[in-house]
Amino acid sequence: MKITIHRGTNQIGGCITEIESDGYKVFIDFGEQLSGSESEKLPLIEGLTKGDVSKSILLITHYHGDHVGKISETISDLPIYMGKTALEIFKHFETRMSYNRDTNIADKHHKNLERVVNVRTFEALQLIKFGSITITPLFVDHSAFDAYMFVIESNGKRVLHTGDFRGHGFRSKGLLPTLRTYATDIDYLITEGTNINSPNVTLVSELDLKQNFTEQFRKQKYNFVFVSSTNIDRIFGLYHAAKTAKRCFVCDDYQGGMLEIVSNNQEKYSSFYDIDYENIVTPAGRIIALNCRNGEDFSFKGKLKPYLERHGFCMLIRTNEAYKPLLNEYMKMDETKIYYSMWDGYLDNSRSAFNEKLYNFFEPYDIEHIHTSGHTDIKTLKEVFETVRPKRGIIPIHTENPERFLAIFENQTIILLKDGETLDCVN
Ligand SMILES: [Zn+2]
Ligand SMILES: [Zn+2]
Repeated sequence: MKITIHRGTNQIGGCITEIESDGYKVFIDFGEQLSGSESEKLPLIEGLTKGDVSKSILLITHYHGDHVGKISETISDLPIYMGKTALEIFKHFETRMSYNRDTNIADKHHKNLERVVNVRTFEALQLIKFGSITITPLFVDHSAFDAYMFVIESNGKRVLHTGDFRGHGFRSKGLLPTLRTYATDIDYLITEGTNINSPNVTLVSELDLKQNFTEQFRKQKYNFVFVSSTNIDRIFGLYHAAKTAKRCFVCDDYQGGMLEIVSNNQEKYSSFYDIDYENIVTPAGRIIALNCRNGEDFSFKGKLKPYLERHGFCMLIRTNEAYKPLLNEYMKMDETKIYYSMWDGYLDNSRSAFNEKLYNFFEPYDIEHIHTSGHTDIKTLKEVFETVRPKRGIIPIHTENPERFLAIFENQTIILLKDGETLDCVN
Protein backbone atom coordinates (compact mmCIF):
# COMPACT_ATOMS: atom_id res chain seq x y z
CA MET A 1 0.00 0.00 0.00
CA LYS A 2 1.17 3.52 -0.84
CA ILE A 3 -0.10 6.87 0.42
CA THR A 4 0.32 10.08 -1.56
CA ILE A 5 -1.00 13.47 -0.47
CA HIS A 6 -1.15 15.28 -3.81
CA ARG A 7 -2.14 18.52 -2.13
CA GLY A 8 -2.96 19.68 1.38
CA THR A 9 0.11 18.83 3.47
CA ASN A 10 0.57 22.51 4.33
CA GLN A 11 -2.70 24.23 3.51
CA ILE A 12 -6.34 24.17 4.53
CA GLY A 13 -8.59 23.29 1.63
CA GLY A 14 -8.04 21.53 -1.65
CA CYS A 15 -6.66 18.33 -0.10
CA ILE A 16 -6.24 15.32 -2.39
CA THR A 17 -5.21 11.96 -0.93
CA GLU A 18 -4.38 8.85 -2.92
CA ILE A 19 -4.14 5.36 -1.44
CA GLU A 20 -2.87 2.75 -3.87
CA SER A 21 -2.72 -1.00 -3.48
CA ASP A 22 -2.01 -3.65 -6.15
CA GLY A 23 -2.49 -1.04 -8.86
CA TYR A 24 -5.92 0.02 -7.55
CA LYS A 25 -6.24 3.65 -6.48
CA VAL A 26 -8.63 5.24 -4.05
CA PHE A 27 -8.62 9.04 -4.14
CA ILE A 28 -10.17 11.00 -1.29
CA ASP A 29 -11.57 14.48 -1.97
CA PHE A 30 -10.93 16.78 -4.90
CA GLY A 31 -11.88 20.36 -4.08
CA GLU A 32 -10.96 23.99 -4.49
CA GLN A 33 -8.17 25.70 -2.62
CA LEU A 34 -9.49 28.32 -0.20
CA SER A 35 -9.66 31.77 -1.71
CA GLY A 36 -6.44 33.62 -1.07
CA SER A 37 -4.26 30.56 -0.68
CA GLU A 38 -1.42 30.45 -3.15
CA SER A 39 -2.66 28.58 -6.15
CA GLU A 40 0.20 26.71 -7.63
CA LYS A 41 -1.05 24.85 -10.63
CA LEU A 42 -1.75 21.25 -9.75
CA PRO A 43 -0.04 18.77 -12.10
CA LEU A 44 -2.36 16.25 -13.76
CA ILE A 45 -2.76 13.13 -11.63
CA GLU A 46 -2.69 9.67 -13.18
CA GLY A 47 -5.99 7.88 -12.59
CA LEU A 48 -7.80 11.05 -11.51
CA THR A 49 -7.35 13.83 -14.05
CA LYS A 50 -5.44 11.93 -16.74
CA GLY A 51 -4.83 8.45 -18.08
CA ASP A 52 -6.67 5.24 -17.33
CA VAL A 53 -9.28 5.43 -14.57
CA SER A 54 -10.49 1.83 -14.79
CA LYS A 55 -8.64 1.07 -11.55
CA SER A 56 -9.53 4.29 -9.69
CA ILE A 57 -12.39 5.63 -7.59
CA LEU A 58 -12.88 8.99 -5.86
CA LEU A 59 -14.45 9.18 -2.40
CA ILE A 60 -15.84 12.49 -1.14
CA THR A 61 -15.79 13.03 2.64
CA HIS A 62 -18.37 15.88 2.55
CA TYR A 63 -19.88 18.55 0.32
CA HIS A 64 -17.75 21.60 1.21
CA GLY A 65 -16.25 23.21 -1.90
CA ASP A 66 -12.70 22.59 -0.71
CA HIS A 67 -13.43 18.83 -0.80
CA VAL A 68 -15.69 18.39 -3.81
CA GLY A 69 -15.48 21.59 -5.90
CA LYS A 70 -13.20 20.31 -8.64
CA ILE A 71 -14.89 17.03 -9.53
CA SER A 72 -15.76 18.31 -13.01
CA GLU A 73 -12.04 18.16 -13.79
CA THR A 74 -11.83 14.40 -13.24
CA ILE A 75 -11.89 11.97 -16.16
CA SER A 76 -15.59 11.43 -16.82
CA ASP A 77 -15.52 7.63 -16.41
CA LEU A 78 -14.05 7.82 -12.92
CA PRO A 79 -16.61 6.56 -10.36
CA ILE A 80 -17.30 9.08 -7.58
CA TYR A 81 -18.83 8.14 -4.21
CA MET A 82 -20.64 10.51 -1.83
CA GLY A 83 -22.99 10.23 1.15
CA LYS A 84 -26.61 9.99 0.01
CA THR A 85 -27.92 13.09 1.79
CA ALA A 86 -24.68 14.95 1.12
CA LEU A 87 -25.13 14.42 -2.61
CA GLU A 88 -28.65 15.86 -2.57
CA ILE A 89 -27.55 18.89 -0.57
CA PHE A 90 -24.62 19.39 -2.94
CA LYS A 91 -26.90 19.23 -5.99
CA HIS A 92 -29.32 21.73 -4.45
CA PHE A 93 -26.43 24.11 -3.72
CA GLU A 94 -24.85 23.68 -7.16
CA THR A 95 -28.19 24.26 -8.88
CA ARG A 96 -28.57 27.65 -7.21
CA MET A 97 -24.95 28.55 -7.97
CA SER A 98 -25.45 27.60 -11.62
CA TYR A 99 -27.84 30.59 -11.91
CA ASN A 100 -25.15 33.02 -10.71
CA ARG A 101 -25.01 36.26 -12.71
CA ASP A 102 -21.26 35.83 -13.08
CA THR A 103 -21.08 33.47 -16.06
CA ASN A 104 -17.70 32.03 -15.00
CA ILE A 105 -19.15 30.97 -11.65
CA ALA A 106 -22.36 29.71 -13.25
CA ASP A 107 -20.40 27.71 -15.79
CA LYS A 108 -18.23 26.01 -13.18
CA HIS A 109 -21.26 24.88 -11.20
CA HIS A 110 -23.06 23.73 -14.35
CA LYS A 111 -20.14 21.46 -15.05
CA ASN A 112 -20.21 20.06 -11.51
CA LEU A 113 -23.92 19.33 -11.94
CA GLU A 114 -23.26 17.48 -15.18
CA ARG A 115 -20.54 15.47 -13.44
CA VAL A 116 -22.65 14.38 -10.45
CA VAL A 117 -25.42 12.83 -12.54
CA ASN A 118 -24.18 9.30 -11.93
CA VAL A 119 -22.35 9.68 -8.62
CA ARG A 120 -22.75 6.56 -6.48
CA THR A 121 -23.92 7.01 -2.92
CA PHE A 122 -23.18 5.25 0.34
CA GLU A 123 -24.35 5.37 3.92
CA ALA A 124 -22.43 4.94 7.16
CA LEU A 125 -20.84 1.49 7.56
CA GLN A 126 -21.83 0.40 4.06
CA LEU A 127 -18.68 -1.31 2.75
CA ILE A 128 -17.24 -0.26 -0.61
CA LYS A 129 -15.02 -2.94 -2.16
CA PHE A 130 -12.61 -2.13 -4.93
CA GLY A 131 -9.83 -4.45 -6.10
CA SER A 132 -8.09 -5.63 -2.95
CA ILE A 133 -9.29 -2.53 -1.08
CA THR A 134 -12.21 -2.35 1.36
CA ILE A 135 -13.54 1.01 2.53
CA THR A 136 -15.70 1.57 5.60
CA PRO A 137 -17.37 5.01 5.83
CA LEU A 138 -17.77 6.27 9.41
CA PHE A 139 -20.26 9.02 10.18
CA VAL A 140 -18.76 12.17 11.78
CA ASP A 141 -19.93 15.56 13.01
CA HIS A 142 -18.76 18.56 10.98
CA SER A 143 -20.23 21.88 9.81
CA ALA A 144 -21.31 19.96 6.71
CA PHE A 145 -24.17 17.50 7.17
CA ASP A 146 -23.67 13.80 6.31
CA ALA A 147 -19.85 13.90 6.57
CA TYR A 148 -17.59 10.84 6.80
CA MET A 149 -14.26 9.45 7.86
CA PHE A 150 -12.97 6.43 5.94
CA VAL A 151 -11.21 3.29 7.09
CA ILE A 152 -9.30 1.90 4.11
CA GLU A 153 -7.93 -1.60 4.27
CA SER A 154 -5.84 -3.65 1.90
CA ASN A 155 -3.35 -6.50 2.27
CA GLY A 156 -3.38 -6.29 6.05
CA LYS A 157 -2.73 -2.54 6.20
CA ARG A 158 -5.34 -0.19 7.62
CA VAL A 159 -5.56 3.59 7.19
CA LEU A 160 -8.00 6.00 8.83
CA HIS A 161 -8.68 9.22 6.90
CA THR A 162 -10.58 11.66 9.12
CA GLY A 163 -11.80 14.23 6.59
CA ASP A 164 -13.03 17.32 8.45
CA PHE A 165 -14.54 16.62 11.87
CA ARG A 166 -15.07 17.98 15.37
CA GLY A 167 -15.86 16.93 18.92
CA HIS A 168 -18.18 19.78 19.94
CA GLY A 169 -21.15 19.34 17.59
CA PHE A 170 -24.64 18.00 18.32
CA ARG A 171 -23.69 14.53 17.09
CA SER A 172 -20.10 14.37 18.34
CA LYS A 173 -20.89 12.04 21.25
CA GLY A 174 -20.52 9.14 18.84
CA LEU A 175 -17.00 10.07 17.74
CA LEU A 176 -14.85 8.08 20.18
CA PRO A 177 -17.22 5.09 20.48
CA THR A 178 -17.33 4.84 16.66
CA LEU A 179 -13.54 4.93 16.46
CA ARG A 180 -13.22 2.38 19.27
CA THR A 181 -15.51 0.00 17.40
CA TYR A 182 -14.48 0.44 13.77
CA ALA A 183 -11.10 2.21 13.63
CA THR A 184 -9.26 -0.67 15.24
CA ASP A 185 -5.80 -1.90 14.34
CA ILE A 186 -4.97 1.25 12.35
CA ASP A 187 -1.49 1.60 10.85
CA TYR A 188 -1.67 5.16 9.54
CA LEU A 189 -3.96 7.99 10.57
CA ILE A 190 -4.39 10.82 8.05
CA THR A 191 -5.92 13.69 9.98
CA GLU A 192 -7.13 17.23 9.50
CA GLY A 193 -5.40 19.92 11.58
CA THR A 194 -7.26 23.14 10.79
CA ASN A 195 -7.13 24.47 14.36
CA ILE A 196 -3.57 23.40 15.16
CA ASN A 197 -2.49 27.04 15.54
CA SER A 198 -4.84 27.55 18.49
CA PRO A 199 -3.67 24.92 20.98
CA ASN A 200 -5.31 26.48 24.03
CA VAL A 201 -8.66 27.39 22.60
CA THR A 202 -11.63 25.49 23.97
CA LEU A 203 -14.34 25.69 21.41
CA VAL A 204 -17.90 26.59 22.35
CA SER A 205 -20.18 23.63 21.75
CA GLU A 206 -22.99 23.83 19.22
CA LEU A 207 -25.36 23.21 22.14
CA ASP A 208 -24.05 26.23 24.10
CA LEU A 209 -24.27 28.31 20.94
CA LYS A 210 -27.92 27.34 20.58
CA GLN A 211 -28.49 28.38 24.20
CA ASN A 212 -26.82 31.73 23.51
CA PHE A 213 -29.08 32.31 20.51
CA THR A 214 -32.13 31.41 22.59
CA GLU A 215 -31.27 34.09 25.13
CA GLN A 216 -30.65 36.63 22.37
CA PHE A 217 -33.96 35.86 20.68
CA ARG A 218 -35.79 36.25 23.99
CA LYS A 219 -34.31 39.73 24.38
CA GLN A 220 -34.55 40.91 20.77
CA LYS A 221 -37.76 40.73 18.81
CA TYR A 222 -36.37 40.93 15.29
CA ASN A 223 -33.35 38.74 14.61
CA PHE A 224 -31.46 38.33 11.34
CA VAL A 225 -28.81 35.63 11.21
CA PHE A 226 -26.15 35.34 8.55
CA VAL A 227 -25.25 31.66 8.32
CA SER A 228 -24.14 29.22 5.65
CA SER A 229 -27.21 27.61 4.08
CA THR A 230 -25.43 24.24 4.10
CA ASN A 231 -24.55 24.42 7.82
CA ILE A 232 -27.57 22.28 8.64
CA ASP A 233 -26.78 21.74 12.32
CA ARG A 234 -26.41 25.48 12.95
CA ILE A 235 -29.76 26.09 11.26
CA PHE A 236 -31.25 23.25 13.33
CA GLY A 237 -29.97 25.04 16.47
CA LEU A 238 -31.35 28.40 15.29
CA TYR A 239 -34.74 26.89 14.56
CA HIS A 240 -34.96 25.41 18.05
CA ALA A 241 -33.63 28.59 19.64
CA ALA A 242 -36.39 30.54 17.86
CA LYS A 243 -39.01 28.01 18.90
CA THR A 244 -37.97 28.07 22.55
CA ALA A 245 -37.95 31.89 22.54
CA LYS A 246 -41.40 31.79 20.88
CA ARG A 247 -40.22 33.60 17.76
CA CYS A 248 -41.19 32.70 14.20
CA PHE A 249 -38.54 31.12 11.98
CA VAL A 250 -38.12 32.59 8.50
CA CYS A 251 -35.84 31.57 5.64
CA ASP A 252 -36.07 31.66 1.86
CA ASP A 253 -37.33 28.88 -0.37
CA TYR A 254 -33.78 27.85 -1.36
CA GLN A 255 -32.96 27.26 2.31
CA GLY A 256 -36.38 25.69 2.79
CA GLY A 257 -35.52 23.21 0.03
CA MET A 258 -32.26 22.42 1.80
CA LEU A 259 -34.06 21.62 5.05
CA GLU A 260 -36.61 19.53 3.19
CA ILE A 261 -33.81 17.33 1.82
CA VAL A 262 -32.55 16.72 5.35
CA SER A 263 -36.06 16.10 6.57
CA ASN A 264 -36.81 13.52 3.85
CA ASN A 265 -33.55 11.68 4.42
CA GLN A 266 -33.43 11.73 8.20
CA GLU A 267 -36.73 10.48 9.44
CA LYS A 268 -36.02 11.28 13.04
CA TYR A 269 -36.07 14.98 12.10
CA SER A 270 -39.07 14.79 9.82
CA SER A 271 -41.53 16.55 12.10
CA PHE A 272 -38.93 19.28 12.55
CA TYR A 273 -38.93 20.65 9.01
CA ASP A 274 -42.53 21.56 8.33
CA ILE A 275 -42.19 24.24 5.71
CA ASP A 276 -44.75 26.85 4.70
CA TYR A 277 -43.90 28.06 1.19
CA GLU A 278 -47.18 29.92 0.74
CA ASN A 279 -46.52 32.20 3.71
CA ILE A 280 -49.98 31.51 5.03
CA VAL A 281 -49.96 32.46 8.65
CA THR A 282 -50.25 29.09 10.35
CA PRO A 283 -49.57 27.73 13.81
CA ALA A 284 -46.17 28.49 15.31
CA GLY A 285 -43.40 25.99 14.66
CA ARG A 286 -43.72 25.93 10.88
CA ILE A 287 -40.83 27.33 8.88
CA ILE A 288 -41.87 30.31 6.79
CA ALA A 289 -39.99 30.16 3.47
CA LEU A 290 -40.06 33.38 1.44
CA ASN A 291 -40.02 33.19 -2.33
CA CYS A 292 -36.66 34.26 -3.74
CA ARG A 293 -37.04 33.27 -7.36
CA ASN A 294 -38.79 36.29 -8.78
CA GLY A 295 -35.83 38.64 -8.49
CA GLU A 296 -37.74 41.05 -6.24
CA ASP A 297 -36.48 42.26 -2.88
CA PHE A 298 -37.54 40.18 0.10
CA SER A 299 -40.57 41.49 1.94
CA PHE A 300 -43.23 40.31 4.37
CA LYS A 301 -46.43 40.39 2.36
CA GLY A 302 -50.07 40.55 3.40
CA LYS A 303 -50.92 39.14 6.81
CA LEU A 304 -47.37 37.90 7.30
CA LYS A 305 -46.00 41.29 8.34
CA PRO A 306 -48.37 41.95 11.28
CA TYR A 307 -48.03 38.29 12.29
CA LEU A 308 -44.22 38.43 12.37
CA GLU A 309 -44.28 41.77 14.15
CA ARG A 310 -46.59 40.43 16.81
CA HIS A 311 -44.46 37.34 17.55
CA GLY A 312 -41.00 38.51 16.50
CA PHE A 313 -38.80 36.36 14.32
CA CYS A 314 -35.45 34.80 13.55
CA MET A 315 -34.72 35.13 9.84
CA LEU A 316 -31.78 33.59 7.98
CA ILE A 317 -30.05 35.96 5.58
CA ARG A 318 -27.50 35.70 2.81
CA THR A 319 -25.30 38.40 1.25
CA ASN A 320 -27.81 39.23 -1.40
CA GLU A 321 -28.88 42.83 -2.01
CA ALA A 322 -32.49 41.60 -2.03
CA TYR A 323 -32.30 41.40 1.80
CA LYS A 324 -31.19 45.01 2.21
CA PRO A 325 -34.62 46.75 2.26
CA LEU A 326 -35.79 44.43 5.08
CA LEU A 327 -32.54 44.88 7.03
CA ASN A 328 -32.65 48.66 6.60
CA GLU A 329 -36.29 48.84 7.67
CA TYR A 330 -35.86 46.74 10.83
CA MET A 331 -32.44 48.06 11.82
CA LYS A 332 -34.14 51.40 12.53
CA MET A 333 -35.85 49.70 15.46
CA ASP A 334 -34.23 49.10 18.86
CA GLU A 335 -35.50 45.56 19.06
CA THR A 336 -33.48 44.37 16.06
CA LYS A 337 -30.14 42.59 15.84
CA ILE A 338 -28.02 41.11 13.07
CA TYR A 339 -25.85 38.11 13.94
CA TYR A 340 -22.87 36.93 11.98
CA SER A 341 -22.63 33.15 12.44
CA MET A 342 -19.64 32.28 10.31
CA TRP A 343 -15.86 32.33 10.56
CA ASP A 344 -14.58 35.87 11.39
CA GLY A 345 -11.63 35.49 9.04
CA TYR A 346 -13.80 36.37 6.02
CA LEU A 347 -14.34 39.86 7.49
CA ASP A 348 -10.72 40.44 8.53
CA ASN A 349 -8.89 42.37 5.81
CA SER A 350 -5.50 41.30 7.17
CA ARG A 351 -6.24 37.68 6.22
CA SER A 352 -5.87 36.06 2.83
CA ALA A 353 -9.43 34.69 2.97
CA PHE A 354 -10.86 38.24 3.39
CA ASN A 355 -14.13 38.55 1.47
CA GLU A 356 -14.68 42.12 0.36
CA LYS A 357 -18.25 41.58 -0.80
CA LEU A 358 -19.18 40.18 2.59
CA TYR A 359 -17.36 42.99 4.38
CA ASN A 360 -19.16 45.67 2.36
CA PHE A 361 -22.52 44.01 2.91
CA PHE A 362 -22.22 44.26 6.72
CA GLU A 363 -20.31 47.55 6.82
CA PRO A 364 -23.37 49.76 7.49
CA TYR A 365 -24.58 47.64 10.43
CA ASP A 366 -23.64 46.76 13.98
CA ILE A 367 -23.33 43.01 14.03
CA GLU A 368 -22.97 40.46 16.80
CA HIS A 369 -20.60 37.55 16.20
CA ILE A 370 -21.87 34.19 17.40
CA HIS A 371 -20.10 31.22 15.92
CA THR A 372 -18.14 28.07 16.66
CA SER A 373 -15.70 26.17 14.47
CA GLY A 374 -16.62 23.17 12.34
CA HIS A 375 -13.20 21.69 13.07
CA THR A 376 -11.73 19.74 15.95
CA ASP A 377 -9.82 21.44 18.75
CA ILE A 378 -6.50 20.04 20.00
CA LYS A 379 -8.06 18.35 23.01
CA THR A 380 -10.34 16.24 20.81
CA LEU A 381 -7.51 15.57 18.37
CA LYS A 382 -5.49 14.17 21.29
CA GLU A 383 -8.39 11.97 22.34
CA VAL A 384 -8.75 10.67 18.79
CA PHE A 385 -5.04 9.83 18.61
CA GLU A 386 -5.14 8.10 21.98
CA THR A 387 -8.22 6.12 20.99
CA VAL A 388 -6.99 5.03 17.55
CA ARG A 389 -3.32 4.62 18.54
CA PRO A 390 -2.00 4.27 14.98
CA LYS A 391 0.87 1.78 14.86
CA ARG A 392 2.99 3.51 12.21
CA GLY A 393 2.15 7.17 12.45
CA ILE A 394 -0.01 10.22 11.96
CA ILE A 395 0.00 12.20 8.71
CA PRO A 396 -1.35 15.76 9.10
CA ILE A 397 -3.23 17.38 6.20
CA HIS A 398 -5.73 20.28 5.90
CA THR A 399 -3.48 22.44 8.09
CA GLU A 400 -1.32 25.52 7.67
CA ASN A 401 1.18 24.36 10.26
CA PRO A 402 1.98 20.62 10.07
CA GLU A 403 5.26 21.12 12.01
CA ARG A 404 3.17 22.12 15.02
CA PHE A 405 2.01 18.50 15.32
CA LEU A 406 5.59 17.52 16.26
CA ALA A 407 5.61 19.94 19.21
CA ILE A 408 2.07 19.27 20.45
CA PHE A 409 1.96 15.49 20.09
CA GLU A 410 5.42 14.58 21.30
CA ASN A 411 4.60 10.99 22.15
CA GLN A 412 3.10 10.19 18.74
CA THR A 413 4.92 9.37 15.50
CA ILE A 414 4.18 12.27 13.20
CA ILE A 415 4.96 11.80 9.52
CA LEU A 416 5.33 15.06 7.62
CA LEU A 417 4.88 14.50 3.90
CA LYS A 418 5.31 17.04 1.13
CA ASP A 419 2.67 17.58 -1.53
CA GLY A 420 3.06 14.85 -4.14
CA GLU A 421 5.42 12.74 -2.01
CA THR A 422 4.61 9.03 -1.73
CA LEU A 423 4.85 7.03 1.48
CA ASP A 424 5.49 3.33 0.92
CA CYS A 425 3.69 1.47 3.70
CA VAL A 426 6.15 -1.40 4.05
CA ASN A 427 6.16 -3.71 7.05
ZN1 LIG B 1 -12.17 21.40 4.56
ZN1 LIG C 1 -15.39 20.98 5.61
